[in-house]
Amino acid sequence: MTRRAVELLLLVALGAVWGWTQEAATWTFAGALVGALVWSMFDGLRARDVLRWLSKSDAAHSPHVSGIWGEVVERIRKLIKKLEKKAQNSDARLEDFLAAIQASPNGVLLLDSAGRIEWSNLTAAGHLGFDPQRDLGQYVANLVRSPAFVAYLAGGDFSAEIQIDGPGVRPSQPSKISLQIHPYGKKRKLLLTRDVTAVRLAEAMRRDFVANVSHEIRTPLTVLSGFVETMQSIPLEEADRDRYLGLMSQQARRMQTLVSDLLTLSRLEGSPAPGPGEWIPSEELLEHVIQEARGLSQAIAKPAHDIRVADGPAFWVSGAKTELLSAMSNLLSNAVRYTPGGGRIEAGWRLREDGVGEFFVTDTGPGIAAEHLPRLTERFYRVDRSRSRETGGTGLGLAIVKHVAQRHGGQVDVQSVLGHGSTFMIAWPPNRVRARVTG
Ligand code: ADP
Repeated sequence: MTRRAVELLLLVALGAVWGWTQEAATWTFAGALVGALVWSMFDGLRARDVLRWLSKSDAAHSPHVSGIWGEVVERIRKLIKKLEKKAQNSDARLEDFLAAIQASPNGVLLLDSAGRIEWSNLTAAGHLGFDPQRDLGQYVANLVRSPAFVAYLAGGDFSAEIQIDGPGVRPSQPSKISLQIHPYGKKRKLLLTRDVTAVRLAEAMRRDFVANVSHEIRTPLTVLSGFVETMQSIPLEEADRDRYLGLMSQQARRMQTLVSDLLTLSRLEGSPAPGPGEWIPSEELLEHVIQEARGLSQAIAKPAHDIRVADGPAFWVSGAKTELLSAMSNLLSNAVRYTPGGGRIEAGWRLREDGVGEFFVTDTGPGIAAEHLPRLTERFYRVDRSRSRETGGTGLGLAIVKHVAQRHGGQVDVQSVLGHGSTFMIAWPPNRVRARVTG
């Protein structure tokens, strides 16, 4: 401030001295006025530089002005820097925020008051089938043509979510998308989407499962109660009575087997995967299930099957022993039940080059057509329904085998040609197989 005053006074004094040298009092006054004018002109030029700079708001290239203007420039420069930093921080936070919404498994879409897309994450675009870049600014009702969605959007009642068909992998299998609108701000809308295909599928599977179990139990129950009624109402000969009782106990056993398989399945699904468990010699497991299969064959087949143990290396297998035995014996009992009497069945362990230990059962039975193979391990899926029932099958055997294999990190495989027998295999991962030197 003082510098400014000194500059002004200096120029006024210079003007006055110049006027005084003209030897007239008015000239002295005029000189002082000219001095003041010159000063305000220079000051105006500096103010112009500052204003020009301000209009560009470029903190890095501030004008070189001194005095109070220099002070003003410096303060404004600091203010601009502070604001720039603040803006940068806000930008970074916005970026982080948008990145977090992008990473969300749920779709997020912002609509303006007219229903145009203002912003969308990739998930929402995927769920609703539009391009998140190209379709910005488009009316969402023009892009999502589902009648249910159009009615929902127009109706204005957003208290509940709705479900629409999404763009599935294949048009024949659309995904199911659940969406709900949440109004906010000035007539704006937040649209949240969720892929509920898996949930719907699980619901459908649960419904099918309950229906299947009910059906499986109802059949033997109907037969049983029929016999009970007959026995109650008609006096029977000893032989007929025995026959009826035999058939009744057969139906009761069928229900017992079904319940036992269901319990096994639910135990397998509900318990944590087994750790390394015991290390069991492969031939001990094999011996056990082969004996069982021979017993079953003698009981149900005439003539009995030719059941052989295939040559193979001896090794240790690790896992839950009861589960291993149950999976192996399920495969062997299937071979016995589906191969006509006298047929040949071979079972054994082999060690694959990749270190996987494989248990296999080969039979000379009817074989299975290729279209059934992918569905064999589904619960209650049967190729030959009557043969399965006749031989006491529950339709759950291979589902149990698959669960046991998966819990141990392994998998089930089937090779079969209709009319030429089948080979069922369970592959145990290398970490559950250990070479064994036999004496
Ligand atoms: P099930 O109790 O009916 O045998 P599984 O789950 O064990 O049920 O098997 C499913 C279906 O796979 C069977 O119903 C049968 O049609 C078919 N299957 C299984 N093993 C064999 C086999 N070795 N030969 C022919 N078909 C088989």
